[in-house]
Amino acid sequence: MRAPIAGLRRYGEVFGRYSLDYLLPSHCLLCHAASKNNIVCPACAAELPVLAPAHCPHCLETTSYGERCGRCLAQPPFFDGVFAAYAYAFPLDKLVQAYKYQQQLALAGWFAAQLADLLAPQQAEHDWTTLIPLPLHRRRLAERGFNQALEIARPLSKRLGIPCAASGLARIRAGAPQASLPLKERLHHLRGAFTCPRDYRQQRVLLLDDVLTSGSTANECARVLKQRGAASVHVAVIARALRD
Ligand SMILES: [Zn+2]
Ligand SMILES: [Zn+2]
Repeated sequence: MRAPIAGLRRYGEVFGRYSLDYLLPSHCLLCHAASKNNIVCPACAAELPVLAPAHCPHCLETTSYGERCGRCLAQPPFFDGVFAAYAYAFPLDKLVQAYKYQQQLALAGWFAAQLADLLAPQQAEHDWTTLIPLPLHRRRLAERGFNQALEIARPLSKRLGIPCAASGLARIRAGAPQASLPLKERLHHLRGAFTCPRDYRQQRVLLLDDVLTSGSTANECARVLKQRGAASVHVAVIARALRD
């Protein structure tokens, strides 16, 4: 049903309008209880996995006492911090998978609402000027039919009042780096994968993705944005996948 839309060049703008037309479900996706206009019922939402209280202040990886993790100490990331609404664990992982692979697009608005609750209190401190969804390579976009980050960025941009730069970054080289590759090789694979068509001087960027795993992709995006002058780059995700 999404295939004809995916082929359109100005896909983002076009799809953005259609996505609002999806009807909200009448049952909770997780427990299937009747939950009018709530894709996740409040009871299930309250049970979703959150981050461990002790985590790296820079990348949110679990650490013993809340100290910086070894990786951030050895090679500080280009991004200035990460915000994650949840930990990537059951059953939140099922929601993300339903969103990405079963086109449960009504979840985009729900995810945006959770992120807005997390980020709105931070806006006074960080004063973000631009919201950039992590781009997909055009081939991946054609396969999936939509960019999961862009569909969340649109309603989030409205909620936070931060302009969304839908094409603020472009992915010009495909080939998702293998999570199993050592960090060095992963970074090597990512070099040159993204390009930034604009000047970001004076901009304080909030980069949006669905899940942060190793952080390599977000790090490479932050590197490119800073090369184009971005004053700061924070990463916001629905969920942080942790090593254990
Ligand atoms: Zn429920
Ligand atoms: Zn860290």
